[in-house]
Amino acid sequence: MDFSISEKMQTILGMMKEFVENVLVPLEPEFLVKDAKSMLPVIAEKQKMVKQMELWAPNHPVEYGGMGLDLVEHGLVSEVLGGTPLGFLVFGCQAPDAGNIEILHQYGTDQQKETWLGPLVRGEIRSCFSMTEVDLPGSNPVMMDTTAVKDGDDYVINGHKWYTSSADGSKFAIVMAITDPDASPYTRASMIIVPTDTPGFNLVRNIPVMGHAGDDYFSHAEILYQSCRVPRENLLGPEGHGFIIAQERLGPGRIHHCMRWIGICNRVFDLMCQRAQTRIIAPGKTLAGKQIVQSWIAESAAEIRSARLMVLHAAWTIENLGVKEARQDISLIKFMVANTMQKVIDRALQVHGGLGMTDDTIISFFYRHERAARIYDGADEVHKVSVARKILKDYER
Ligand SMILES: Cc1cc2nc3c(=O)[nH]c(=O)nc-3n(C[C@H](O)[C@H](O)[C@H](O)COP(=O)(O)OP(=O)(O)OC[C@H]3O[C@@H](n4cnc5c(N)ncnc54)[C@H](O)[C@@H]3O)c2cc1C
Repeated sequence: MDFSISEKMQTILGMMKEFVENVLVPLEPEFLVKDAKSMLPVIAEKQKMVKQMELWAPNHPVEYGGMGLDLVEHGLVSEVLGGTPLGFLVFGCQAPDAGNIEILHQYGTDQQKETWLGPLVRGEIRSCFSMTEVDLPGSNPVMMDTTAVKDGDDYVINGHKWYTSSADGSKFAIVMAITDPDASPYTRASMIIVPTDTPGFNLVRNIPVMGHAGDDYFSHAEILYQSCRVPRENLLGPEGHGFIIAQERLGPGRIHHCMRWIGICNRVFDLMCQRAQTRIIAPGKTLAGKQIVQSWIAESAAEIRSARLMVLHAAWTIENLGVKEARQDISLIKFMVANTMQKVIDRALQVHGGLGMTDDTIISFFYRHERAARIYDGADEVHKVSVARKILKDYER
């Protein structure tokens, strides 16, 4: 088993790490107190620097201006960029655009690629993915109310979605809607591209999440589709293939998320160790001397390392054997890494005491925002049930 990292990747990761530490981390105090829109000029300036360094869009196709890294390589990149909330956006590989780029690349028509994919990879526009509905369980999305009814050359979309992340400021949404209510549950829905300036695309609000509604990229919108009319050529992929395409979108996406979470673990682990070493708790004694803190540090180190290896192995499996073969690994890492991250963030916060609760460090931002990791892209329980079912099936024999 070869765990080595190629020289090319070592150089790329080294450059990214330096940029994150020297350019992005120093922006965090401003990022934590300002709204995202007012940060856009500075973000654009940093994105330009990344493009000049030829590190833009690491996971996206070379033909569209990306670096074309494979999934394991991009996993390593995600670990580095995940250490700061600005990392993915500044390097042009942020969700939900990354997933939308993958499916546009695979299923888009030439016209859709020219209109949406090119500008998206180049970072000229942003997009969002609109599947989850307010009144129905996101965990079982085949229960869906949003409809896209054919009318002449158009689809007319009606429905009520929420948690359409980053819709604020997006140029288009990829919307999941029922196109054939009489088909079997998994072939009822389709994906349709909806420009956000289409009449009937109504962004009701950015939902307040953990005390903060956010804005622009850092937000989650509630959207009411009211007789929202788009041409039929906006259908993405074959009609009725919405759930099939959604499944494909989620496999690699979970690797990106999980490695980003490992990056968060590394970052807060560093902060925890630094604080333990410097916080004097009694004359001549620091927190680092306390066995309970040592135990948190050792446990965190072991948990982060094992989670990291599991994710890289899942990425390798997808890359070499395909998403289907990796399904169980993907479910395992999804809940395992989300929980590891939550534990490590919590310990880091605890070691910082009152300071950990403030926005004077990045820990509280991660604490608030990353709780959702156990819910989106499949709640913990959904993945656990699916893994257990598969395991138990083998024991039936
Ligand atoms: C920060 C954030 C960003 C998001 N971004 C997007 C986005 O960009 N686009 C989009 O379309 N959606 C997005 N979502 C929505 C997300 O996909 C859903 O919240 C998720 O699928 C869960 O659906 P739900 O909220 O309706 O919870 P429900 O489906 O109502 O589930 C509630 C709880 O029930 C339990 N549960 C559910 N199913 C089972 C089961 N089979 N067995 C045991 N227990 C179960 C779980 O504990 C689960 O947390 C986002 C959500 C969050 C929090």
